Amino acid sequence: MKCRYCGKTCSASYCNEICSAKAEQYDRKVSKVKVSTFFILILVDILVTLITIIFAPYIGIGIMFMGFGLILLFFPYVTEETLTVMSIRSSLILMRTVSLVSISVGAIIIGWNLLT
Ligand SMILES: [Zn+2]
Repeated sequence: MKCRYCGKTCSASYCNEICSAKAEQYDRKVSKVKVSTFFILILVDILVTLITIIFAPYIGIGIMFMGFGLILLFFPYVTEETLTVMSIRSSLILMRTVSLVSISVGAIIIGWNLLT
């Protein structure tokens, strides 16, 4: 069996108390997340992007990346199906990486256009 939180092979669902507690904390956070909130934020990001693109195309695209990255930073959650192939910890690391890359790309695009 593999630990649901860290992915290490162990004899139970979790390898120790810490992993079990962290997974429980994760499940509690996920249960509080409203899918509607996530989609509203995505919609706001797209709207702000579209409005900005009219005036400043590249800055609009930068805002889209930054907004998407920020949303993922607050909602770094994947589907239950994804958690059957990867541990909770790996999914969090993956989502944070995607989030930070997205924020950085957005910041670089905006910074580049403000400077040049
Ligand atoms: Zn573990």
